[in-house]
Amino acid sequence: MAKEQLIEEAFVFHDGVERTVAIKLSSRARRIQIKIDHHGGGIHLTIPKSISPAKGMEFIKKQQSWILGKLSRLEDGHPFENGMILPFKGRPCRVVHSPGRGLVSFNSQDAEIQVHGQIEHLPRRLLDWLKKQAKADLSARSVAKAHKLGLTIKQITIRDQKTRWGSCSSNKTLSYSWRLILAPPTVLDYMAAHEVAHLKEMNHGPNFWRLTDSLLEPNTDREEAQRWLKNEGRRLFSYGRD
Ligand SMILES: [Zn+2]
Repeated sequence: MAKEQLIEEAFVFHDGVERTVAIKLSSRARRIQIKIDHHGGGIHLTIPKSISPAKGMEFIKKQQSWILGKLSRLEDGHPFENGMILPFKGRPCRVVHSPGRGLVSFNSQDAEIQVHGQIEHLPRRLLDWLKKQAKADLSARSVAKAHKLGLTIKQITIRDQKTRWGSCSSNKTLSYSWRLILAPPTVLDYMAAHEVAHLKEMNHGPNFWRLTDSLLEPNTDREEAQRWLKNEGRRLFSYGRD
């Protein structure tokens, strides 16, 4: 007989989200144990074989506040504040508050972003500046790439999209997430090529990818940029929140 048996149970937590609990029925376990895996945030429940999975799920129900607390801490936020380290164009930079008037300025040599004004306005001023930088960088790239194809863009907007990095609408408006300005330049270059290619090919077929590749800067590796977004992209959403 197998020492362990694995089953999965779905459970709706009191935040309204249904999560899957992986239950391990173990002949060795002496007590019920909950473990949260640190990477994927999976919930693992180990129960002695003498206990029914239903009883195990009752334990999950009782411990749900504790579980939700653990899950929320897995994705720590990085609020905008004096002294924080913020990636800017893929490079870790220090945010430094400086009293007195002035615009936000970036010192490339010291890798410092200086934010002037009252400290309570720092988060808003930093966010406005990042959005402006994102718009300048992505607009320049998009316009140049569209020009290559003999196309014009109607409008470029910068948003805080939760689920995507960019989009292209049928009326030739391109939208990008401001968070891309935190990523390495080759990632911005890939996203601009991707959205501009959609001006001509509104799909992800072979022609679309050929067109995207033809719009990349020589040092941009499309697969590397895609891999970066897949592996590191989630981290970019932790900036600017508690
Ligand atoms: Zn696309």
